[in-house]
Amino acid sequence: MPIDTDVDTFAAMRPLPASVTHLVVGAGFAGLGTAIRLDRAGETDFAVIEKDAGVGGTWRANTYPGAACDVPSQLYSFSFAPNPDWSRSFSPQPEIDAYLQRVARESGVLDRFWFDTTMEEARYDAEAQRWVVRTSRGEVTATTLVTGTGGLSEPRLPDIDGIEDFAGEVFHSARWNHDVDLTGKRVAVIGTGASSIQIVPEVAKVVGHLDVYQRTAPWVIPRSDRRYTRLERLLLRRVPAVRRVYRTATYWGRESYVPAFTRLPRLAAPARRAALLNIARGIPDPALRARVTPDYTIGCKRILISNTYYPALARDHVDLVTDPIARVTADAVVTADGVERPVDVLVVATGFHATEQPIAERVRGRDGRSLAQVWADGGMAAYKGTTVHGFPNLFQLVGANTTLGHSSMVFMIESQIAYVLGAIATMRANRYAAVEPRRDAQDAWNRDLQRRLRRTVWSTGGCASWYLDAHGRNTVVWPRHTFTFRSLLSRFDVDAYEVEAARTDERIT
Ligand code: NAP
Repeated sequence: MPIDTDVDTFAAMRPLPASVTHLVVGAGFAGLGTAIRLDRAGETDFAVIEKDAGVGGTWRANTYPGAACDVPSQLYSFSFAPNPDWSRSFSPQPEIDAYLQRVARESGVLDRFWFDTTMEEARYDAEAQRWVVRTSRGEVTATTLVTGTGGLSEPRLPDIDGIEDFAGEVFHSARWNHDVDLTGKRVAVIGTGASSIQIVPEVAKVVGHLDVYQRTAPWVIPRSDRRYTRLERLLLRRVPAVRRVYRTATYWGRESYVPAFTRLPRLAAPARRAALLNIARGIPDPALRARVTPDYTIGCKRILISNTYYPALARDHVDLVTDPIARVTADAVVTADGVERPVDVLVVATGFHATEQPIAERVRGRDGRSLAQVWADGGMAAYKGTTVHGFPNLFQLVGANTTLGHSSMVFMIESQIAYVLGAIATMRANRYAAVEPRRDAQDAWNRDLQRRLRRTVWSTGGCASWYLDAHGRNTVVWPRHTFTFRSLLSRFDVDAYEVEAARTDERIT
């Protein structure tokens, strides 16, 4: 029976096995990629659990109007599963979702996926040398635990006085309520980040009135997006070498941006000029232009791309509000200057919990402490962004300091998956039941990262961003080239690990 990734009664009813060798949490790019690579490496005894009803992760969750990728299409696919079907140079969300569905279907691994299954708690049992994972579908134990739960999966709701008493519709950008018809309504969008600037132009087309609440102006450069020509599509589909040339050229083009973020901010001058020109082209009113012009160094927050955001703000029925929000009433947003703006629908585009990930509360290591407890003082930290001292056989994809502002997370994820496979192969070859990064290795890795991060635009650019945690530490961004990350993770460096032999024959060996 073919397994549809969305709705399949048979799949929905299958019991979760009580024990597997590898448990993967999440079925986005990270979890799906891990499953496929495990399978191809002959590590077929795994289960993937996913809280949602199908594969896709963030690309399943974010269905807001205008959702599209800011990374060029040619880089936004697995290296082992090229997509000849992209229609444009920057893909819209439905195409990425369809790509992931297709790869999942064709890879032959979906029989080991359990959807609508939430990881409630994972505890490392040092005696049994196994992870004991409580899920919404029962308990499962595993030798390795691979988390692919995404850096940006838990919506951050704004702490605004009275918002819970709002009588109209309110929803987060990543939980778009498609049942709400916005036609002719008074709508407010809170936030002006990557999600908002895609939402605003689309919503502005249908609403009666739109208020956009900006706390900090983003830098927005033009989006060099276009439809592929018929010839290009034909070549991309039929001639793999053409696909490789596009991908390689895009990859190196993106890597060339890195020094502007990390060492030489003046290299970002052309981007700054392009952003200012974007404002000048999109907004005729000098007063509005001034209000959307950022006062911090470009690159400090993620650089956004849009050709339609500024023209949307300039429309007569759209207002940009820069006075801070004081409170929300049953039917209005009130700003600090006392102005009350009536609203029917409130769209909260206020981002995600990136530095305090909810999964950290749920994963407990060998001494019973959770990742959140271990990270409470120093902030999120890992070895090579993937493993954590005190948490044997835990592999976190998109872990601490692996996020990019300039290129494709799929590249980082694949680098990490290769590292996980290397760890598993090492365990098998040496009959290890557990590998755990040594504290000194992890500390040295993070000291080096933090030293590098201090001189980057993310630290010196004069802005607050979701890259920084409550202590002002950047625990999110990878501050070097992506090929350096890949090279550093290309071999499982067992000498940086404490290892434990298997106590019984039932382990990974
Ligand atoms: P975000 O970049 O964190 O933006 C959140 C916005 O909400 C910011 O403008 C923030 O203002 C504002 N905000 C937060 N709390 C607020 C409050 N209490 N009152 C008023 N404003 C508030 O979130 P996002 O737009 O969802 O994007 C997150 C990340 O997801 C992106 O950086 C990107 O990595 C990824 N993403 C990618 C794409 C894409 O590829 N196209 C699209 C969407 C998202 P401040 O700036 O003042 O904090």
